[in-house]
Amino acid sequence: MNKSVKRAYNFNAGPAALPLAVLKQAQAELLDFNDTGMSIMEHSHRGNAYDVVHNQAIELLKELLAIPEGYEVLFLQGGASLQFTMVPMNFLPAGKKAGYVMTGVWSEKAYAEAEKLGEVFVAATAKEGNYRGIPALKEINYDADTAYLHMTSNNTIFGTEYHAFPDTGAVPLIADMSSDILSCPIDVSKFALIYAGAQKNLGPSGVTVVIIRRDFLEQAKKNLPTMLQYATFAKNNSLYNTPPTFGIYMMKLMLEWVKAEGGLLGIYKRNQEKAALIYDAIDDSRGFYVGHAQPDSRSLMNITFRLADEKLEKKFLEQAKQAGFVGLNGHRLVGGCRASTYNAVTSESCQALHDYMLAFQKENT
Ligand code: PMP
Repeated sequence: MNKSVKRAYNFNAGPAALPLAVLKQAQAELLDFNDTGMSIMEHSHRGNAYDVVHNQAIELLKELLAIPEGYEVLFLQGGASLQFTMVPMNFLPAGKKAGYVMTGVWSEKAYAEAEKLGEVFVAATAKEGNYRGIPALKEINYDADTAYLHMTSNNTIFGTEYHAFPDTGAVPLIADMSSDILSCPIDVSKFALIYAGAQKNLGPSGVTVVIIRRDFLEQAKKNLPTMLQYATFAKNNSLYNTPPTFGIYMMKLMLEWVKAEGGLLGIYKRNQEKAALIYDAIDDSRGFYVGHAQPDSRSLMNITFRLADEKLEKKFLEQAKQAGFVGLNGHRLVGGCRASTYNAVTSESCQALHDYMLAFQKENT
């Protein structure tokens, strides 16, 4: 167990890198969790050992995100993709319209699901520019009786991100934060509902976190299938049925790690430094590397770029693989390269990528 492991430079978009310290703790506790003679995976979700873990995960999320009173933290399954359906199912009544800010593939998917269930409209879109930018907050249009306004805070595929959110007043604001939750401090009080799949910044896949304001929850439709109502999870502390216990345990370890790393302020500072290493390599390359996102819309989590010379791009990716870099191929819909620099991606990995980019450019110009 003490043998040192050679870890990859993992830039996967999700499932993504986990902190080595978290993996080691999970490994150490795997066979015997807290002197119980069993793995946490083997415990009942109704038993004491698991109950403590479950509630710690909720409390840590509340603490780290500074979630105000009046909100519930829920653990669901079905990924962020099921939220594309559950949100309109619960909160888009007949006679009302929901507004969607279109900033990439995931907002398109969210919109397409909502369209099956009710009336929707595009509140703003960046599609024309191939999602290189994000609509400015003042370009988002909706009226006062909009059912809700839906935004994707970080666009995993195109590499753009909102760093501020609108004040929507009485219109409930809903955000898909799957790929940037916990990467920087946010003002949760602006949102009626936040959802995120865990597999980028929160832990392994299999858990979806939902943060929902209680007064908004009360407005949800009541006659829905049990497992598709947020109220089912809220009333039962996310223990109506068997939750993904191991995933929630891993998330708890991950949240403890975030706290030990200085909480969201510490993590945010490091994320900025990490992203700057790679953006600098792009910006200082005099056009050898070309960023996909407009500089003012750049994501701190997913850095998308191409090589001006397509043939060299293939070579860049091949040689990167040989050098121990994982996950640098762009999403199949966009092509090019993408480095996902989530919380657990180390500064060393980002420095290594920076150095590799500089060396590759030098060798090939
Ligand atoms: N929203 C965003 C922003 C995502 O990045 C992803 C997954 N990459 C999803 C939604 C879909 O998540 P899941 O696979 O958990 O359904």
